[in-house]
Amino acid sequence: MENISLKHYTNAELLAGLQILVSQERTLSLKVISFLREIRFRSLHLEMGYPSLFTFCVVELKYSEAAAYYRLNTLDIVDELPEIKQAIETGELSMTTLSMVQSACKAKKRKTKIKVSAEDKKSLLEKVKGKSKKQTEAILHQHFPELQTAAKPETEKKLSDDLIGIFFNADPELMKKFNEIKDLTAHQNPSPSYQELFHIMSDFMLDRIDPIRKAQRITRRQERKKEEMKGEKTDLEKTPGHEDSLLQPAEVQHQVQNPLETQRRHCSVQIERAVWVRAQSRCEHVDVKTGHRCDETRRLQLDHVTPYAISQDSSEKNIELVCSAHNLYRATQWFGSEFMKQKMGSTPVSSPGI
Ligand SMILES: [Zn+2]
Repeated sequence: MENISLKHYTNAELLAGLQILVSQERTLSLKVISFLREIRFRSLHLEMGYPSLFTFCVVELKYSEAAAYYRLNTLDIVDELPEIKQAIETGELSMTTLSMVQSACKAKKRKTKIKVSAEDKKSLLEKVKGKSKKQTEAILHQHFPELQTAAKPETEKKLSDDLIGIFFNADPELMKKFNEIKDLTAHQNPSPSYQELFHIMSDFMLDRIDPIRKAQRITRRQERKKEEMKGEKTDLEKTPGHEDSLLQPAEVQHQVQNPLETQRRHCSVQIERAVWVRAQSRCEHVDVKTGHRCDETRRLQLDHVTPYAISQDSSEKNIELVCSAHNLYRATQWFGSEFMKQKMGSTPVSSPGI
């Protein structure tokens, strides 16, 4: 970066120059928002192997998580109320303020199931124009009393290389469940710490929903059966009920809501298991140009690389594990956005320019 010497500037010139730069910075920020909108409209972030525009902003554009969050919230609010662009350009509304308003409106919708109307949002923005972060917080608290709570925000803090401190709020119902689990596992550990308790609960859940653990369990069971056939049963294996306890997770798994259920009609359980193991429980969508693979490990679904309706092929090579965003993206590539909008019953994404 060029090192500019400002020593020869008078104070007035320095202030005037800074004002011009800040104004250009705001205009540029709006242009960034405009570009992000078009990226989203073209689903370029999905094509490039990112499960969301947020991840694209953080990983590809190197924004901090907070900066990405502010920009995407601003994008949403400008989409809804394009007339506020002028207030952004003049500095009356900052991205921080806009993001705070947008977050509060989203929180209200989550909590009450009622969407804040565009008119209400507009009058709220008028109130926070030119206000500081603290003043905006006070206005939002007054406007949305239903969102006020004594609960502290959840936090994660790295305490050392192998220790993370987590703070979260628990309601009485959750505390009751914790105590029930403690009672039921007291024969193993009469006084577990919360860390031990979470290990027990996490292992229990993962045994039921993680396809890789399930595949490993089935392999172990098959190997054990082979050993039994050879007449090499161990004392443990002869224990009554032992086999049942090993079978239980596989049986219970069907009671857990499984996003793959609709795919199973075209895909055997064995192939499903093999795909999950191959993918290592991570989205397999790859940008063909860069080789970048999506990092998403949540909301994974089986996807026919060439749709089953076209290929009638449910072999392992035609099936990939992808996140829900890439599953929808691929379906849109095959069947078109209009068809998918009808199928999903969603509102089309508009692409107005800034
Ligand atoms: Zn993905």
